Amino acid sequence: MSQPAEAVASEVTRLSHYINGEHVDGQSGRFGDVYNPSRGVKASEVPLASQAEVEAAIAVAEAAFPGWAATSVLQRARVMARYVQLLYQHQEELATLVSKEHGKVVEDAMGSVLRGIEVCEFACGAPHAQKGEFSDNVARGIDIYSMRKPLGVVAGITPFNFPAMIPLWMAGMALITGNTVVLKPSEKDPSCPLRLAELFVEAGAPPGVFNVVNGDKEAVDTLLTDERVKAVSFVGSTPIAKYVYATATAHGKRCQAMGGAKNHMLILPDADLDDVANALMGAAYGSAGERCMAISVGVCVGDDVADRLIEKLKPRVEGLRIGPSLERNLEMGPLVTREHREKVMNYIQMAADEGSRLVVDGRDFVLEGHEDGFFLGGSLVDQVRPDMQSYQEEIFGPVLQIMRVGSFEEGAALATDHPYGNGTSIFTRNGAAARTFADKVEVGMVGINVPIPVPLAFHSFGGWKSSAFGDHNQYGMEALRFYTKVKTVTSRWLDSELDAEFSMPVLK
Ligand code: NAD
Repeated sequence: MSQPAEAVASEVTRLSHYINGEHVDGQSGRFGDVYNPSRGVKASEVPLASQAEVEAAIAVAEAAFPGWAATSVLQRARVMARYVQLLYQHQEELATLVSKEHGKVVEDAMGSVLRGIEVCEFACGAPHAQKGEFSDNVARGIDIYSMRKPLGVVAGITPFNFPAMIPLWMAGMALITGNTVVLKPSEKDPSCPLRLAELFVEAGAPPGVFNVVNGDKEAVDTLLTDERVKAVSFVGSTPIAKYVYATATAHGKRCQAMGGAKNHMLILPDADLDDVANALMGAAYGSAGERCMAISVGVCVGDDVADRLIEKLKPRVEGLRIGPSLERNLEMGPLVTREHREKVMNYIQMAADEGSRLVVDGRDFVLEGHEDGFFLGGSLVDQVRPDMQSYQEEIFGPVLQIMRVGSFEEGAALATDHPYGNGTSIFTRNGAAARTFADKVEVGMVGINVPIPVPLAFHSFGGWKSSAFGDHNQYGMEALRFYTKVKTVTSRWLDSELDAEFSMPVLK
């Protein structure tokens, strides 16, 4: 990795911004702490940009825009194709950066980098996807055609839990369509996004096209209010998504703002419970539950289903293979920060206080030799009711809540009535029930016997209700529409031999 890192104290490095193809030291004097969550120690400091520093990055992106927008879409696609190759070559390095700062196990991180690369692969098809429309000879000598034009400087603001995948969702589609990007990644794990921007320049893009400013609220607020920024794509928690959407749109920008989640899995009595248990172990505890598409609620139709499922899950949750994120063959690493671990632990206590039953309490987990790491065991909570605060809110940790309902309808209504509507799934052998569920449930992404229904890059990603604000989803053709504006031209070219009468079509 070529990223310069100034030594601050022993083993603590200082990160930078990446602007105009160069690493730029922070000038604000403010820094955030980035941790090694497996050890529980500070690993680096990330500069928190001032308004002036963000404005300078926006100016660079604005200056790079005319040249990049005028570059032919074929040429942009070639740069993107080289970028894809570089991302594959560096996949393990990128995954290691993710794993070191986020704490998810490195195999999970490899998978997340791949999901981001797939968006860039889809982006390579922009010469076809970005084609406009043409209506020939709508009146004599008159044609109408429409084009999809880039917006200008666009901003990406991303969360801690996918520091490779989500920046690539945004940058891949924004850049291929001719926009220039200022990315403000999470200050908790900024190293991978810096490397992603660096590789884009290595792939042959002009410097200034893909910039990264690190920072916190001050940086975000500058991006939301600066009139040179034409669109904002945000992914993070719901309160911040609401704020970002309200502020960006009040300042005349396009905005898509994805928020939090509480994803239900509905388990019908005819489901194969071994299959369900396997699915839940990955979907609830993978990435320590720090996934917006994690299944955090298992809704069992009937006490018998719940009892048998818990019997299968309990020993597996107690036996989760947990360890330092860079070690192989583990199921779970630590949580991202000490504060986040505290927050998840408070929710487990809240669940108990509210009257649910802690079948497995992960708070007791200690990893020998890593006592200061931000580790938490898996928790399994039974007898959860809809009125509980621990059910209404997103926990975002390795905690699976089990609910018991009397019927399919009662179970399906839980997902529909919950304030969040990101993802959901149903496990059953009954095709009619699955079809009705998929058709009626008020949730944006649905899995049928699939626990984490994240759409591939040629579809698009987005939740409903409090899980997303704005009109377009992430990636796929939805992103192409988000990152372009339509211009429609009506043109009249008469053959000089023909009558030069000017008339639009009228009914006769
Ligand atoms: P977060 O909302 O705390 O932070 C997201 C981004 O917003 C970061 O870049 C952060 O610096 C910035 N930010 C934080 N506080 C801010 C403030 N007061 N003003 C302006 N900007 C601010 O989210 P997080 O903790 O990094 O990520 C976890 C959340 O993201 C979870 O709620 C999860 O469900 C959600 N998420 C959603 C999706 C989705 O597609 N729906 C995907 C991944 C994560």
